[in-house]
Amino acid sequence: MDIQATTIPADDDSGPDVAGLEPAPDAGVQHCLLLLGNAGLRPTRQRLALGRLLFLGGHRHVTAEGLYAEAMAANAYLSLATVYNTLNQFTEAGLLRRIAADGIKSFFDTDTSVHPHFYLEGEDVLVDVADGLAFTKIPEALPGHEIARLDVIVHLRRKRT
Ligand SMILES: [Zn+2]
Repeated sequence: MDIQATTIPADDDSGPDVAGLEPAPDAGVQHCLLLLGNAGLRPTRQRLALGRLLFLGGHRHVTAEGLYAEAMAANAYLSLATVYNTLNQFTEAGLLRRIAADGIKSFFDTDTSVHPHFYLEGEDVLVDVADGLAFTKIPEALPGHEIARLDVIVHLRRKRT
């Protein structure tokens, strides 16, 4: 047998580590570990991979399908079902806020505070309303109930002109 090469080029600059390798304990991982720990979630590989995508790039609005595509691009080999499950776990733990924009698709917001959104119909995009919306009166809850949350979504569509 003629073995020509004994070394294999280790880096090809093609992107992040592939699944299965121990990621370097960089600041991003530390931040995710802290977030998950504070939320009472065990830091599994899937949660860390998705946490890195969700929580290190500033305030984001994602769908499960969009995050799944990002995970694939980052070589994090997760199923769409795992992405759904993890997003739901993050939501239940208070790390994300679920926003149902059109009755079919949910967005997950990394800003869990109460704030209004624009939904761009037909474009599947959810963005924050920067300002210009104020409530002067919020109705009393029905007897025996309290207001749990207040969601405001302003639906936009392209002008036809
Ligand atoms: Zn938002």
